[in-house]
Amino acid sequence: MEQPPASGRPVPLTCPECGGTLSELPVARPPRYRCHTGHAFTATDLVSAQARRNDAALQSSLRVLQVREQLLRRVAAVSRNIGEEAQAQAGLRQAAKVREQARRLAGLLEQETGGA
Ligand SMILES: [Zn+2]
Repeated sequence: MEQPPASGRPVPLTCPECGGTLSELPVARPPRYRCHTGHAFTATDLVSAQARRNDAALQSSLRVLQVREQLLRRVAAVSRNIGEEAQAQAGLRQAAKVREQARRLAGLLEQETGGA
């Protein structure tokens, strides 16, 4: 277990650049963090980077839900065309649920980006 000098105390945070474990530097006030690769951050940098990652993850989830809704509606239309009305209705109900999830997530995203 080799550690560079003054590497600080490992903390349960990961480097936003490389995903490595961060250590809190012993004497820095306000606290500073560094990974094994040498990326260094203030606490404020970490909070900003975390917010950006969170936002990107929510955006990605929103796109997944939107694509899923479109797919469900497309499949429901095909079911209707071939006379499978019950299946079409079930698909449309599922699509409506997914749309509601997307609507809620979009609301969350608005809070994340609009709030602060
Ligand atoms: Zn790093």
